[in-house]
Amino acid sequence: MGYLETVIADVNKKYAHQPEFLQAVKEVFESLEPVISKNEEFYKKEAILERIVEPDRQIMFRVPWVDDEGNVRVNTGYRVQFNNSIGPYKGGIRLHPSVNLSIMKFLGFEQTFKNSLTGLPMGGAKGGCDFDPKGKSDREIMAFCQSFMTELCKYIGADTDVPAGDIGTGAREIGYMFGQYKRIRGLFEGVLTGKGLSYGGSLARTEATGYGLLYMTNELFRCHNNTLEGKTVVISGSGNVAIYAAEKAQQFGAKVVTMSDSTGWVYDKDGIDLSAVKEIKEVKRGRISEYKNYRPTAEYHEGRGVWTVKCDIALPCATQNELLIDDAKALVANGVTAVCEGANMPTTIEATKYLQANGVWFVPGKAANAGGVATSGLEMSQNSERLSWTFEEVDAKLQGIMVNIYHNIDNAAKKYGFEGNYVIGANIAGFEKVVNAMIAHGAC
Ligand code: NDP
Repeated sequence: MGYLETVIADVNKKYAHQPEFLQAVKEVFESLEPVISKNEEFYKKEAILERIVEPDRQIMFRVPWVDDEGNVRVNTGYRVQFNNSIGPYKGGIRLHPSVNLSIMKFLGFEQTFKNSLTGLPMGGAKGGCDFDPKGKSDREIMAFCQSFMTELCKYIGADTDVPAGDIGTGAREIGYMFGQYKRIRGLFEGVLTGKGLSYGGSLARTEATGYGLLYMTNELFRCHNNTLEGKTVVISGSGNVAIYAAEKAQQFGAKVVTMSDSTGWVYDKDGIDLSAVKEIKEVKRGRISEYKNYRPTAEYHEGRGVWTVKCDIALPCATQNELLIDDAKALVANGVTAVCEGANMPTTIEATKYLQANGVWFVPGKAANAGGVATSGLEMSQNSERLSWTFEEVDAKLQGIMVNIYHNIDNAAKKYGFEGNYVIGANIAGFEKVVNAMIAHGAC
């Protein structure tokens, strides 16, 4: 067995109970083969793969809070500080009942490479809690966020670790967490990103991940002498990423025909009415099934199914492992041209390989959704400068970063003889920068 296979086998054995983490490691490591094989002895001597796969530290803590009936409830909080070789730890906080150490490690590992791809000085981390925000009152959300931050604040700071939003953590939750941090630590600093505009947030951060996904998709099409104008787009999810992906897709002249949530999905042949989705999701915090009240001609279906709809572009923007092999087959059978991931690891490895084997342009989340963290990086820069840039300035920088990432991953794939394989390109480009820094820092 070669070095790469040996490390994969060891990780599989050691973390057999962490399937999402193993999936992420396999996906990244397999595509590093061309780089590792060129200099195997060196990487082995440096134990680069063993080091890069092990988080710097993993923090787990109790989160007690009091519900509206006066009962004490307890959740488990996490912060996995994965790698700070190229900058302070940076990565979101996920609030969802499915959160566990495996998911935190997978996300922190992916984040390390994604942050490297942005070209900004940010290390990789992820945090979260198995708390379910659905159906909780505003007071319960505040009680939870304050308790969560009471413990987390010991481990983060503007120059050490800067968390952000993710599934279940939006502007409201970031606000409560920031308030608690400020109160306990007595510091007004850029310790979180995704903040409100009145206290250090950046314009265009809300839109950044979805807009960035479309800037990347647009560059992909442009470089293939094609455009987004008139294309049919299928989107999953109806959260932050999905909504702003749909908005920018429409601005590029494409027609978005589906959106979903964890209970069902809507198909609107006339094109999704985004103002309706925003009202349902951002204002009422309701279910996507309510969309039919706004557009009676649209179809609502329970369960999953967006990938069965004929489209040119598929943008998975909900969660991990939501695009499976049968979905990939349905997309290919319907003539899809491109799949660009808005969510983190939404496509299984099997489905990814099927799409690539059938000539679909596939851009992985670590590149395609990097606009969110990149703009968080811009928020950190503004906080350090104590300045606020205009929407247009931030948006222009975001666009430049996404175009740059596309060319970096495209060039890395070409350099190693895998033209058009953006998975290999993204993993190699992200890996090389982190590894160069790790080697420069010595055995640490
Ligand atoms: P939100 O919480 O705003 O939205 C998530 C959406 O996905 C909701 O529509 C939700 O439906 C749906 N969803 C969540 N879990 C499931 C599930 N298990 N099955 C089906 N649907 C599900 O999150 P974001 O939009 O912020 O994040 C979406 C994805 O993008 C995640 O993978 C996240 O890690 C990734 N991402 C987010 C970034 C950001 O800036 N926000 C940056 C980079 C990546 P419901 O409301 O019913 O739960």
